Amino acid sequence: MNTSLRTDLTIRDICEGFVYNELEGKGLFGLNGKLTIQPEYQRNYIYADGKKDVAVIDSLLKGYPIGVLYFNKVGTDRYEVLDGQQRITSFGRYVTHKFAVKWNGIPRNFDGLAEDLRDKILNTKLLVYICDGTESEIREWFETINIAGVPLNEQEIWNAVFSGPFVTEAKREFSNSQNANMQKWSAFIRGKVNRQDYLHTALSWVARGENNIKEYMSTHRQDTNINELRNYFTSVIDWIDSVFVHIESEMQGLPWGELYEKYHNTPYDRDDVARIQQELYADPYVKSRKGVFEYILGGCQLPQLLEIRYFEDSVKKAKYAQQTSEAQAHNISNCPLCAMGKDSNRTRIYKFSEMDADHVTAWSKGGATDISNCQMLCQTHNRAKGNK
Ligand SMILES: [Zn+2]
Repeated sequence: MNTSLRTDLTIRDICEGFVYNELEGKGLFGLNGKLTIQPEYQRNYIYADGKKDVAVIDSLLKGYPIGVLYFNKVGTDRYEVLDGQQRITSFGRYVTHKFAVKWNGIPRNFDGLAEDLRDKILNTKLLVYICDGTESEIREWFETINIAGVPLNEQEIWNAVFSGPFVTEAKREFSNSQNANMQKWSAFIRGKVNRQDYLHTALSWVARGENNIKEYMSTHRQDTNINELRNYFTSVIDWIDSVFVHIESEMQGLPWGELYEKYHNTPYDRDDVARIQQELYADPYVKSRKGVFEYILGGCQLPQLLEIRYFEDSVKKAKYAQQTSEAQAHNISNCPLCAMGKDSNRTRIYKFSEMDADHVTAWSKGGATDISNCQMLCQTHNRAKGNK
């Protein structure tokens, strides 16, 4: 990759023909049309928070450097911003009167500044690296530079590396906070739309796992539609909706793609599912509500998904004392299963540390996790019972 450093470009140059799209929240073009500020793979503008954008202008007014900008050369005298989009959009918006900053305690938009300060900003010379390289070289840049501001996350890097018609279409659907479906999707998907978390989830579902995302993006890079991605995503969401009546906050961020693959061919009675779900949500022994959904989908076979609460130590000790004194009175083992046996353990008195607590009636069959349903067993018997 060839890189060359340019020090002659000023903010006035970059802001010539600056276009900002208010609706999509992104700076589009500058440098008199020769610079694409936000290529499709770039994230949306996230500096417009009244702090980061103001800090950029503050630096310029004080004559502080705002860091190196990286442009990718895409043609004769044509460039895309590789890194610096947030900073460029900040000063571009300021110069085009989109927000004000405090100077000497008074909020001023660009026009409200004294002429010398306006000139100071416009004449600021920028440090710009122009990069001319291949896809993998650019990818390396993204991974190594991650410079000013918020570092790019993995999906943002892949969007850059595999930029093209597929990413453009996919972002239109899954990275667009104006999409009317977002609210519905947010019940099941965790993260931020503008940080590509929804796109990342959709891709991990259709690609059958996060590790396959880059291969999927590479394969489909030149596709002009996202039908497969969209259809698969819709199938998963519709399936969740068709099985579960009650939408709970614990459903957000579950591995729905995996669950769909595993269970979508199993028939469920929606009313039964709703009833079991409510019972489990009301059950004080269920520690993991996140596990409720897979537990139900799997036919209520794996209570370990629910992390059922164990007996309290005080309960175990009380039960141990009671069993042991009764056993000593009758000269039998304090493990009730050993006491029924015929070998030498029949009369053995175990120490507390040699025993474990057991549900007399299993939790999955309605047994409670209190002293009335607790018995202490020797570890051998407890393990044998647990394996049944
Ligand atoms: Zn025993």
